[in-house]
Amino acid sequence: RKFVYDFSEGNKDLKDLLGGKGANLAEMTNLGLPVPPGFTITTEACKVYLASGEAPADLRDEVSAHLEALETRMGKTLGQSDDPLLVSVRSGAKFSMPGMMDTVLNIGLSDESVQGLAKQAGDERFAWDSYRRLIQMFGDTVLGIDGELFADALEEAKRAKGAATDVDLCAEDLRVLVEQFKDIVRGETGRDFPQDPREQMDLAVRAVFDSWNGERAKLYRRQERIPHDLGTAVNICSMVFGNLGPDSGTGVAFTRDPASGQQGVYGDYLQNAQGEDVVAGIRNTVPLADLEALDKTSYDQLMQIMETLETHYRDLCDIEFTIERGKLWMLQTRVGKRTAAAAFRIATQLVDQGLIDEAEALQRVTGAQLAQLMFPRFDGNDAATGIQRIGWGIAASPGAAVGKAVFDSYTAIKWSRSGEKVILIRRETNPDDLDGMLAAEGILTSRGGKTSHAAVVARGMGKTCVCGAEELEVDTKRRCLSAPGGVVVEEGDTVSIDGSTGKVYLGEVPVVPSPVVEYFEGRTHAGADDADELVKAVHRMMAYADRMRRLRVRANADNAEDAARARRFGAQGIGLCRTEHMFLGERRELVERLILADAEDERKTALEALLPLQKGDFVELFEAMDGLPVTVRLLDPPLHEFLPDITELSVRVALAESRKDANENDLRLLQAVHRLHEQNPMLGLRGVRLGLVIPGLFTMQVRAIAEAAADRLAAKGDPRAEIMIPLVGTVQELELVREEAEEVIAAVEREHGTELKLSLGTMIELPRAALTAGQIAECADFFSFGTNDLTQTVWGFSRDDVEASFFTAYLEKGIFGVSPFETIDKDGVGALVRDAAAAGRATRPDLKLGVCGEHGGDPESVHFFHEAGLDYVSCSPFRIPVARLEAGRAAA
Ligand code: ADP
Ligand code: MG
Ligand code: MG
Repeated sequence: RKFVYDFSEGNKDLKDLLGGKGANLAEMTNLGLPVPPGFTITTEACKVYLASGEAPADLRDEVSAHLEALETRMGKTLGQSDDPLLVSVRSGAKFSMPGMMDTVLNIGLSDESVQGLAKQAGDERFAWDSYRRLIQMFGDTVLGIDGELFADALEEAKRAKGAATDVDLCAEDLRVLVEQFKDIVRGETGRDFPQDPREQMDLAVRAVFDSWNGERAKLYRRQERIPHDLGTAVNICSMVFGNLGPDSGTGVAFTRDPASGQQGVYGDYLQNAQGEDVVAGIRNTVPLADLEALDKTSYDQLMQIMETLETHYRDLCDIEFTIERGKLWMLQTRVGKRTAAAAFRIATQLVDQGLIDEAEALQRVTGAQLAQLMFPRFDGNDAATGIQRIGWGIAASPGAAVGKAVFDSYTAIKWSRSGEKVILIRRETNPDDLDGMLAAEGILTSRGGKTSHAAVVARGMGKTCVCGAEELEVDTKRRCLSAPGGVVVEEGDTVSIDGSTGKVYLGEVPVVPSPVVEYFEGRTHAGADDADELVKAVHRMMAYADRMRRLRVRANADNAEDAARARRFGAQGIGLCRTEHMFLGERRELVERLILADAEDERKTALEALLPLQKGDFVELFEAMDGLPVTVRLLDPPLHEFLPDITELSVRVALAESRKDANENDLRLLQAVHRLHEQNPMLGLRGVRLGLVIPGLFTMQVRAIAEAAADRLAAKGDPRAEIMIPLVGTVQELELVREEAEEVIAAVEREHGTELKLSLGTMIELPRAALTAGQIAECADFFSFGTNDLTQTVWGFSRDDVEASFFTAYLEKGIFGVSPFETIDKDGVGALVRDAAAAGRATRPDLKLGVCGEHGGDPESVHFFHEAGLDYVSCSPFRIPVARLEAGRAAA
């Protein structure tokens, strides 16, 4: 096997073998761009090393051969005392990963060769500056010495000299600093800084290999579900020097604006600097455009190269470059990260430029980006609003929230009940804060990262959240928060938090609706002359997705208003209309009567009173969705949910009894509550079980649906109702319900003298239903996978409890990267869905298949359902554009 590739031997498609950085260095080399020569040690070599603790036997010789070739080509040997070849050792996995070892520059310098470098370059200062950088980087990343020790020594040297920045240190200062650095190495490791250049190189390579299994790298991989066995490549690249004086420098550039997507010149440049100096902020950089005045030749060449790269990669690229005494060198490129808005704009620009087609444009954006663009935003920037920014934390859950500061959940609930908007501020949250979080507009914490309790729960609730704003001091006892600069926020003060940027403000920042939502709502038009560029781009991308996708997208909606919005957002029907909401409010009393009924006629009266109300609901809904399918789920939740709380009622009755004036109805209610009380309501009397146990309940609902459909037909409408039975576990349950339902439908058809064409199907949301889907399909016109309940029952997780209790720990331990209630668990729940779909279709080839859990609006899950061959997904109205886009991406 070959373990080492010269830059000229690779290409951009070899990321698995050469890592991202190595593959792109090779690609640029082969494009004829000025890349300093070098070679890449493959991920395969790393894998062997990680498995056996030893580098592959041939690796040393192979590296030697490549190094010799490099030396011949450069006309000097590594660390040669009078004219040293220097190299950088750069890690580079397939995916860029925080926690991996950084790069070590200037390898090959020693006490001897530093003199040679000085002579060759005619610049003592430069040589000592390079040497101190080597010891610093090598000490920190290869030898594991605390980087602070070097940084402190450097600061001290600057202070002693009265130097503002590192360039103000002269050769002698730097020579002294090198001695100090070497002392640090000796003191910390008990050995001298290695003087043998090859030993330096080999140690650095080994350190890169080892860093693959660093704790931070491992955690990151678990969370991002990056396989642990990919390994990293190592790039050995001959050095070029941006720290050779004012005609040298180093910079980063983007081929277009990664923030807005606009075309133009974007980047930063720093004269007389090396490596990370540009991003490390040690001195002020200049805008890339200023390079034109400093070095027109290099600037023009860079512009030319950027164009070449964009056309070649057919995408926005970011670039690292160095200028050594007027000669431009390319050190890195990759397809660059960008904001959500830029992603949409760039994708359509590239289509217009003829560089990509519509299908590929869809791969350049994500549903998550679209979702981000749909949140309301704060108006303008900090300076424009004049409102004080007091902190900056982690953007944990997007959105913009404004409210009064409260420091405990009790107050959050109390104030929000009285109509106040509140922001719940805690050091960190725990399960006791759930109700407070629910009541708040947004959540702010001073501790914890993206997987903290606050972050996970807020994302689940769709609440804006900023967490880990560490410079804010939260004092829950005194109910206040102190920010740097002596700012104190008391309970009741208005604060604004931006969950998309992590910024925290004192005062009310005006919130503007998202232009993208205004567009989906039909309040602005993409065709208008003054239409926002972003809106135009979104409009076009949605059109591409709609043309491409096979999956249809429906909405979960229970009322005409939601249905109408869903239609505006592009819904092709309703996949889940829950009927339980129709049993609340003033109708509760009727439901109570139904539950309490002892005699047949009492029950009948209650049901007869409910029938016209239910029918009215459906007429409105069918009208809003005229011409499109509406799946109505018969009553699902356990009945006690409609009764008073057991504790409250018990207390009321006990008090009344002590006063000897207990009321008859309360006593009966209490009995019923006790009778219906369940330890595990989720696994109790609900769904189809209710229909089979409470006579007349489901038939009343079926009649309401059928009569509503008949009314709509009479009004020349086009109702397309589908009746869905929840929580079926066996085909026998469905058979019984179906028989009764068909009788009712036939009766209504006779009464109205019309044919209703209602279909009858079931939810597949219990493992047994999934396992016997072939039998169940004999009795069902459609399946709708209820992946929320299916996830609960397959994992044995109670969704209402576990997300707040131990999911944070599970996420932190990397047991899953994302909650299985958020993204479908492909291997478990997903496998059941796929098999049940196949079994159902084997019985009944025209079986219609859909999904109505939360997963229907989750990007990754949508791709899975596309591949599983389902017909549609159903999600909340606001997620519809995301689902449409992802369904298009899945098919593209
Ligand atoms: P990262 O992945 O952190 O960007 P790099 O390997 O790209 O690490 O290197 C860190 C910095 O050092 C970058 O600014 C890069 O341009 C610079 N650098 C790397 N190799 C060389 C080299 N051979 N000559 C000059 N600068 C280099
Ligand atoms: Mg880099
Ligand atoms: Mg369910």
